[in-house]
Amino acid sequence: MIEVNHSKIKETNRKKIITLLLEKNEITKLDISRILDISITTVSTNITELKNEGIVEDVRHLESTGGRKAIAVKLSENCKFSIGIALTPNNIKIALVNLKKEIIEKLKIRHKNNGIENLIGIINENIALLMEKHNLDSEKILGIGISLPGTVDFENGIIKYSYLLGIKDFNLKEKFEHLNVPIYVDNEANLSAYYEFLNRKNILKNLLYVSITDGLGLGIIIDGKIYRGDNDSSGEFGHIKVALNGKKCKCGARGCLEAYTSMNSLVDGYNEVSLEAISDVEEFEELYLKGEEATKKVLDKYLKILGMGISNLIMLLDPNTVIIGGDINNLLNDKIDILKKNIYKDNLFTDENNCTISVASYKEAYLLGAAMMPIEEFLEIK
Ligand SMILES: [Zn+2]
Repeated sequence: MIEVNHSKIKETNRKKIITLLLEKNEITKLDISRILDISITTVSTNITELKNEGIVEDVRHLESTGGRKAIAVKLSENCKFSIGIALTPNNIKIALVNLKKEIIEKLKIRHKNNGIENLIGIINENIALLMEKHNLDSEKILGIGISLPGTVDFENGIIKYSYLLGIKDFNLKEKFEHLNVPIYVDNEANLSAYYEFLNRKNILKNLLYVSITDGLGLGIIIDGKIYRGDNDSSGEFGHIKVALNGKKCKCGARGCLEAYTSMNSLVDGYNEVSLEAISDVEEFEELYLKGEEATKKVLDKYLKILGMGISNLIMLLDPNTVIIGGDINNLLNDKIDILKKNIYKDNLFTDENNCTISVASYKEAYLLGAAMMPIEEFLEIK
């Protein structure tokens, strides 16, 4: 006998209606009923409930359909919000995002990376300010997603190891439990991959996201889900070895791909060949845009090693879609064809026409990915 779980069906109908409302600007109840194949009575009951909760509102103007006037409804986009937070070695980024996935406000706070407790203090202070400014309480917040470089136990919200932030075995989730909203903690490359995947989920099942920031990470989406590995440590792409006794990596080992392909490696590479030292990648970008010769050479070499790394990745996983993104975007935009050539130079096993390799459209995909976690959980049809 099939047992029908009525509350489950009710929940599914509700989520289907919200998802449809997110797609359409405004829609009549009759059209909702037709599109979703749900009875008009069920649609009406759900819409009334959603209106009472402030999630749905009537659209003021009336539309005429078949002689009868029908009132269209729309999602009240500012009824619920999500907060995305990104911890990077120099900055804390915070984005307040509404249910329609629009950024309402974005903050960037520079920090000195002097201990996780200080970072938590800065985050709490700024969340309180944001909530006060936009008149929000925990009822209106769907949750908080936190992105960081390093390995994470996603289930429990524990940072396992982040050498870039100097944190080991730290329960970050419990530090925000006082806010009484769901908290998600994840690796930045995973969240970037997740964000890019959500934008393509109707056409893709799998995706690889190569994240180039202070480190080099990899987000893997398989069958629409983030692949985390059996021990939460998948995608440590930056620490595959490309040279015996090679360059020293920030992780402590030698010859890691990251030592040659992180953003800092461009600065290091430039300083090795130039008489005048630069201190950050912004300076490198400036010189490159001016056409400075040494930056071109450094970038060419960089693209060869990055190409080798991505070639290894393609040999291993045979993907159809690889997206490269992060702080590298500006430098990579007009170099993608050279990078592709480097990737497929010695690859006799996979056809380059079967894999789309592109630069991410948004630099801070991890921040939006973090904000999407609570929204997708709210919308997910189980
Ligand atoms: Zn390393």
